[in-house]
Amino acid sequence: MTSQVLDGVAVAKEILKGVSRRASVLRDAGRAPRLATVLVGDDDASKTYVRMKVNRCSEVGIESVRIDLDAEISTPVLVAQIEALSADPAIDGILLQHPVPGHIDERAAFEAIDPAKDVDGVTRTSFAAMALGNPGFQSCTPGGILRLLDAYEIPLEGRHAVVVGRSHILGLPMGMLLLGRDATVTYCHSRTRGLAEILGRADVVVAAVGTPELVRARWLKPGAVVVDAGYSAGDRGDVEQPAAREVAGWLSPVPGGVGPMTIAMLLEQTVTAAERRAGG
Ligand code: NAP
Repeated sequence: MTSQVLDGVAVAKEILKGVSRRASVLRDAGRAPRLATVLVGDDDASKTYVRMKVNRCSEVGIESVRIDLDAEISTPVLVAQIEALSADPAIDGILLQHPVPGHIDERAAFEAIDPAKDVDGVTRTSFAAMALGNPGFQSCTPGGILRLLDAYEIPLEGRHAVVVGRSHILGLPMGMLLLGRDATVTYCHSRTRGLAEILGRADVVVAAVGTPELVRARWLKPGAVVVDAGYSAGDRGDVEQPAAREVAGWLSPVPGGVGPMTIAMLLEQTVTAAERRAGG
């Protein structure tokens, strides 16, 4: 068996067509949507992610304002910077690139984002709305993964979904979104025992750890839907690809799976924030 591809590039392209149309309506009405990106430090991967997001913004008619801050910045200074963006009427959305350097209180920085501008879905307000199934901005990577699964009409109701990873921006909200769609959800993390055996019972797997090829192809249930959200240097995901292609029913590639969907969600939510602020 060769798995079918969960093609994030193709699905994101369709989403971005809609984003581009909506951005042009706002532009014609007087002001293009505007996203502020905040990068702290000079981590190469984070710099690349921010650059990709900014490039994609310009392709769809979203203006961006880049704020690059020194790695040594303190939490209060970062919080003040983000509060200023929250109060700035010219800014519709704010992205604080995760992770920030270890000495910074990332939660405090996230909470400085006005929930109306939380287009990356990182505040407690957004998280609670997502957990309760209320309208709000979704955490972009898990939200993008759900959109990818929906685009291929992958059934979730009653299926056993295993999320490997429980970070606040990815694994934890992913499980909540899957639960909201009536999947039976199991979380695995660094203290989990018997990962292979748990994965062997999974109809749907979301691998979100950041350890290359942690999820071995032989552990997967034949025909499982496998989303590889991991990304490590050298275009390596968290799933043993390409061996997993011979076992899984569906598989997201790395690159070209989850990454483009994350950016598409961010841009779509930025346009939504701008529309709401314009009274649309
Ligand atoms: P993170 O904050 O480092 O969290 C990693 C999670 O993996 C933690 O919950 C950790 O468990 C768990 N874990 C670590 N070792 C494990 C093991 N041996 N078995 C099972 N679980 C284990 O990472 P993150 O920010 O969620 O990112 C995860 C991956 O997704 C990274 O590769 C990142 O680059 C990628 N990512 C991709 C996108 C995209 O757009 N494509 C976006 C965001 C992240 P504990 O909680 O117990 O420590």
